[in-house]
Order: sequence, then C-alpha cells, then structure tokens
Amino acid sequence: MIYVHVPFCHRKCTYCAFYSTPSARLREAYVDAVLHELELRKCEVAKPIRTVYFGGGTPSLLGLDQLQRMADALGHAVDLESLEEATLECNPEDLTPDFLAGIRRQGLFNRISIGVQSFDDTLLRLIGRRHTARQAVEAVEAAAGAGFENITIDLIYGLPGLDDGAWNKAVQQAVALPVKHLSAYSLTVEEGTALARQVATGRVLMPDDEQVVGQYRMLCDAMRSAGYEHYEVSNFARPGYASRHNSRYWDRTPYVGLGPAAHSFDGHRRRWNVADVERYVADVFEGRKYYEEEALTTADAHNETVMTGLRTAAGIPSQLVSRQQMQPYIERGWIIENADRYCPTEQGMLYADGMASDLFE
Ligand code: SF4
Repeated sequence: MIYVHVPFCHRKCTYCAFYSTPSARLREAYVDAVLHELELRKCEVAKPIRTVYFGGGTPSLLGLDQLQRMADALGHAVDLESLEEATLECNPEDLTPDFLAGIRRQGLFNRISIGVQSFDDTLLRLIGRRHTARQAVEAVEAAAGAGFENITIDLIYGLPGLDDGAWNKAVQQAVALPVKHLSAYSLTVEEGTALARQVATGRVLMPDDEQVVGQYRMLCDAMRSAGYEHYEVSNFARPGYASRHNSRYWDRTPYVGLGPAAHSFDGHRRRWNVADVERYVADVFEGRKYYEEEALTTADAHNETVMTGLRTAAGIPSQLVSRQQMQPYIERGWIIENADRYCPTEQGMLYADGMASDLFE
C-alpha cells in the first residue's frame, strides 16, 4: 500500500495540528520530489499494490495535471493491476464538476473522501473551514453525479456550541446523502493550534466530557439504525465499504509513505519524512537523508497491536493478553469474547486507549 501526503492547505483550520503550508509556489517542486522519492523507494513497495491513499493537507488543491503526473508515475513504477481502493481526500470547495470529471477520466481514484466536518455555517466559520454547509452537500452530490460510488465524509462532534439536537440532525443529514462511509471524530484541542489559544483565553468554551460521550452514543445509535457497521471507533461503513487502506494500517500491514511528513512502516521500523516541503524537496534531490526512523521493539509491536486492535470491532487475538487482564473489562461490558478474539463493544471502544495502556508491555 502507498500513502502520499499532500501538505498544502489554503489556510489553517483552527483545530488542526498537522503540518501544511498554503504555498502555491512549492507545489510543482513538491510533485517532482514525490515522484523522485517514488523512484528511490519503488523496490520497498510490496507487490502488487492493493490500496493507494492521497491524504493531507488537501490533495484536491493539486491541479488535475499534477495529479495526472502522479497517477502516471505510480502506474509506471509499481504494479497497480490488483488495486482495490484508491482514495483522494478533498475539501468540498474544490469539487467542481471539471475537477471531478478530470479525476474520473484519470481513472486512478475510485474513492472520494470529503472533509465536510459540519452542516452548520456558524460552526464551520468558527473552526476556520472555507466551505459552507450548502457547498458540502453539493460536493457530495456532485461526486456521486460524476460517477463516484464510494464516497466517505468526515464529521466532527464535540464542537463548541454544537447541541445534541443539531448533532443528531447532522448525522441524519449525512446518512441521507449518497455516502457509503462516515468518519466522525470528537474535537480535540491540540497544543499550538488557534483553538488551543481561543480555549485558553476563554473565547471558545469546549463542551464537557459527558456531552461529548452523549454525542458519540447518539452517533452510534443513528448509524446502526441507518445500516452502517461500526468497524472502528471513529469509522462507520455500509456493508462492504470499510476502508481497506485504513483497515490495513490497523492490521499493521507495511506501507510506503511518500511526501513531506509522510510516515512509513516496513513491519519492523517506522519512519517519518521531514515535515517541511522546502527541506524535503532539497534533501530528496540532493541525496541527503530526508527522514528519521525508529526500530520497533517486541514490546512496541505488542503495544501497537493492542492499541489499534482495541479501537476496531475485530479486536485483538486472545493469546496476546491474559484472561485475568481482560476480566474486569468483560464484567464492565467493554469487551466481549468472540471465538479466539477479545472485541470491544461500542461502549468499550470509547475506553480503548485507556484499556490498551493498561495492557501495554
Ligand atoms: S484542511 Fe485539513 S489538513 Fe488542512 S488545515 Fe484544515 S484540517 Fe488541517
């Protein structure tokens, strides 16, 4: 599997701590450098490729010609014959009919991920998004109209001022759209973000934990009623539409990540590219090391398996932990035993991180 990180955004959303830059000047050099990195690393890519994911940042900020160059280079460098899923993350305001038709014609991407986040214009403005609720709805409809059948959207709950009624309405609005998949995240206040400053100065008041948990429960109930499977703490899919790419991250399948700030995993080591486009471009072309890496110990591998496994409905193999360790969670209704696995319940997924850290080696 291949991940391509596209680190460009028009401007920073208030809650976002990911690396990105608005610079249009660097985009062409960025594409050249990613293609060079692909050439350097194509032997590392497991054959054949089953999934490709262009994430960001905002991949839909790249022009059709730039995306075409990347798609062509991928087709030449690696075997895409068995490709099952290729996702392009997009922001609603970029999904014009021309852009969508162009992506369709290129033929690489068969899954569109749209950063809707909210259907409330006041909240969208508050968190610094550039689109309106109407644009978000139109983007989903335009993607479906252009022939994309596998569409996923992102929503955020636990937003300041988002009351339960509005959240319920947003989820109903999402499932009424032609979307096969929904990712819903609770808003977190990341250090160094504009949101963190707004919260610190009292300009923005975050909801309390009880309200956020209530919104998670509403989400789970509504998605179940609408026929979606809750396969990971933040992810819901119509049967057969779970993200294959992300599911493989959670299985700890090796992958190659290209681009500034992209992460890679070869089964033993994790590596991350420098989070700076200019340095990345210069280092890639001048033959300097443009990444750092860390070898995982057996304990790291165990801890990662437990951490990601407990966030997914598939859970973890029961031989990884003792029955005695799991007993308290089974009694609380957070874990059920299913064949030879311990699987989190919907309630348990909420406490996945806490359970996992208790089970770390
Ligand atoms: S568009 Fe996405 S990556 Fe870019 S600033 Fe907003 S949340 Fe972050």
